[in-house]
Amino acid sequence: MRKIHKYNFKTFINYFKLFKNYFKFRIAKYNNNNFKVLEIHNFNKYYKFSKFKSSISNIPYTIKNVFSKKGSLNLANSRVLTNYIQFFNCTIYNILKNNNCIFLGKNVLDEFAIGSYGTGVSNPWNSNIFAGGSSSGSAVSVSKGMCMFSIGSDTGGSVRLPASLNGLVGLKPTYGTISRYGMVSFAPTFDTVGIICSYADDLLNIIKKIQIKDKNDLTMTSFNNNVLKKRKILIPYKVFNSRYIDYETKNCLNKVILFFLSNKYEVIYFKKVDNYFFKFSNSLYYVLSSIESISSLARFDSIRYGYKSKKIIYKNIDDIYKIRDKYLSNSVIDRINYGKISLEKFNYFKLQKKREFLKKKIKNYLKNCYTLLPVFSFKELSSKTKNIDMYNTIANLTGFPSVCFRVGYSLKMGIPICFQIMGIDFDERNILDIISSFQNEKV
Ligand code: GLN
Repeated sequence: MRKIHKYNFKTFINYFKLFKNYFKFRIAKYNNNNFKVLEIHNFNKYYKFSKFKSSISNIPYTIKNVFSKKGSLNLANSRVLTNYIQFFNCTIYNILKNNNCIFLGKNVLDEFAIGSYGTGVSNPWNSNIFAGGSSSGSAVSVSKGMCMFSIGSDTGGSVRLPASLNGLVGLKPTYGTISRYGMVSFAPTFDTVGIICSYADDLLNIIKKIQIKDKNDLTMTSFNNNVLKKRKILIPYKVFNSRYIDYETKNCLNKVILFFLSNKYEVIYFKKVDNYFFKFSNSLYYVLSSIESISSLARFDSIRYGYKSKKIIYKNIDDIYKIRDKYLSNSVIDRINYGKISLEKFNYFKLQKKREFLKKKIKNYLKNCYTLLPVFSFKELSSKTKNIDMYNTIANLTGFPSVCFRVGYSLKMGIPICFQIMGIDFDERNILDIISSFQNEKV
């Protein structure tokens, strides 16, 4: 697993013909029925070298099975959609195809991208721990060296959580800067397309190619290239000193601070924010996203999309819904129920106003700086509560970009320790620049 981490795109391109066998071997070795991270139909058919059109040409990648690709099955890893044959390609696939990237296959995920634990896939660093979700297959396929990068989706931390549990760089871009056309939506005001990769400079290469406006996605804004790089880093002091954060993570914080100081960044300790703030924003995310999930999932009602049986005679609409419920997993049904209860209790529009207020407040704090945050706390890892995404959902609530990266390794847990840097709209390329210099300094 660590071997592939030695190679970034530049060295890969120098040796790329040799790598065909390498990927073939890795996929054959690690992608079996007990550990299925990738659905691959015909390796030799897909793995073909073509012209070098751009800096990402001939780079092998995988895609989370929540994006539509002509002819594929099992969309969104749901039994409801097992037999649905996808009939068009999503924009992101088309862009990568135009760049002559090598598509290897579709990754497994938590059903409909709802969940944090990556059901069925274990962590390559420590098999007793989950791989993180919902983009579990995407993260594991990169960390196991089956591909060079993978496309996932981040609605509430689904790219950053698995990326950090696998010690990789995971990007959640500014909302609306990467086309979501062809992606099964879960909570449309939160959904973003994320990318997982080993190196920040490779990731920078990729997003420069894919952050382009698409007329098929009406929520898109074009990327603003003129954002200046800031030299200040805000550290929420109380968060890093709370009982949720263990001593190994604190040691890693010192390492990052040292990097910032030696590179002439100003480090500011910020005392106003504590864990309570993240718990509040996390609850807000869960209420809003669950409400939105009701309308997103309503189409899988077995009438238009969904499982239909020829053997069963449906007498009325209730029969249809009974069949549908049988084929959805408990976590999805829970989420729909949670959304239903939330809708009865709260006013969706008032909550959206609260979200707007939160966004303004954070934008004000981050006007001249970036902030460093944990990705998850080890204490939440074993309890498996919704708090696992506590530090992640704030980027989705505000639409701001955030990138996680590996800082160290926990001897106690046997997994990597990662942090994330969050900025405001269109800051991701600058953040990736900072992470890239951190990675280069370390190597
Ligand atoms: N764990 C979060 C949820 O279930 C994140 C999902 C996501 O980002 N796709 O809502």
